[in-house]
Amino acid sequence: MKIQSFVVGAFQENCYLVADEAAGRAVLVDPGDEGEPLVAAVRAAGLTLDAIWLTHAHLDHIGGIAEVKRAFDVPVYLHPDDLPVYQFAPQVAARYGLPFELGPLPDHALHEGDVVSVGSLQFSVWHMPGHAPGHVVFHGNGVVLGGDVLFAGSVGRTDLPLCDGVVFQRTLARMTTLPPDTVVLSGHGPATTIAAEVEQNPFLTGLARPLRR
Ligand SMILES: [Zn+2]
Ligand SMILES: [Zn+2]
Repeated sequence: MKIQSFVVGAFQENCYLVADEAAGRAVLVDPGDEGEPLVAAVRAAGLTLDAIWLTHAHLDHIGGIAEVKRAFDVPVYLHPDDLPVYQFAPQVAARYGLPFELGPLPDHALHEGDVVSVGSLQFSVWHMPGHAPGHVVFHGNGVVLGGDVLFAGSVGRTDLPLCDGVVFQRTLARMTTLPPDTVVLSGHGPATTIAAEVEQNPFLTGLARPLRR
């Protein structure tokens, strides 16, 4: 397995290119902006792109989809509970004054308990709502592609439309049930591990609580 990360867009979002190099297959997780360099990276790596997997549909995680889909006609995977978030993204972008092109509607519905694969690599899908209603994480192969649930030293916001702070607490608790040495590849900021966050993250040690609406 090889995972490359790219920091894209105004919100400095992490897009991940996850590849089974032996098989020559890859997926893009959360192509949030700057679709052209992401397309170039896939081509430069000589990989066949199989799909776009979305942890959730906030605008900073989906803004590169239109460009990537023009280059590679691959299906977009999203939990259906995030469809309203996806469709509302252009209005949110307008409010921020950001250029934004909405990609085609997602093609494939993700659900709790699904197993998704790229080449021979398999990842389990957990529905982890709270930051967004259809937020999922993909875990397997020693990593969790965790979107905006858990960051190094912080957690996802729960004060945005369609957030739920109570549900988010359950999601956070579930995140800590992953093996301690699991590498957390977050939607923003550096990689961390479950063990490091359980030990030091103020939102997990009980020193801080997520914002509620
Ligand atoms: Zn988000
Ligand atoms: Zn984000």
